[in-house]
Amino acid sequence: MSTETAASILVAGRECGSCSLCCKVMTITYMDPPKAGGKWCQHCSPGKGCAVWQDRPQGCADFHCDWRKNAQLSEDWRPDRCGFVINKAAEHLPFEIIVDPGRPDAWRKEPYYSALKGACRIAAEKRQAMMVLVGQRRWLMLPDKDVAIPSEHHASDYRIFRAPALQGGDWQVEFLAAAKAS
Ligand code: SF4
Ligand code: SF4
Repeated sequence: MSTETAASILVAGRECGSCSLCCKVMTITYMDPPKAGGKWCQHCSPGKGCAVWQDRPQGCADFHCDWRKNAQLSEDWRPDRCGFVINKAAEHLPFEIIVDPGRPDAWRKEPYYSALKGACRIAAEKRQAMMVLVGQRRWLMLPDKDVAIPSEHHASDYRIFRAPALQGGDWQVEFLAAAKAS
């Protein structure tokens, strides 16, 4: 899906290659009609790429998954290999692990699951979590558990904390009622 116009934020020499997984897993609202998450875009030829590349929507041209931007992620983390796209849609939102519904357990496989949990531990100290999406199902990944997100809640409507508050307590999540999805 990506372009090289934002080359300064991309890992030098890293290309999408035959990966097109974002063209399947992402929900794309700027297309007419909108593209549902988990279904191939009508313009995508999996393994070959976008049939409307020259005229693709600007949102597609601007999109880069985290694998394209994070040099710490090895080739094993290329989305079509690991089975999920890592994305951060906005600063206030958690990292999203958007899983290919054709490989719904990909995020639970090793070495990915342990590595993701390591990132969760760092995020949790900032009271942030990672969110896993598999079709309509969503989880918040905490260092010591994965918590299903109630369907009526947005991704940012949560608070995580240790219970008891002393170091060493279990991680807990509270879903906030004030900002429920409309
Ligand atoms: S998921 Fe990432 S690597 Fe794959 S096509 Fe999209 S931007 Fe490129
Ligand atoms: S228009 Fe092209 S780049 Fe955008 S989602 Fe469809 S196949 Fe991918």
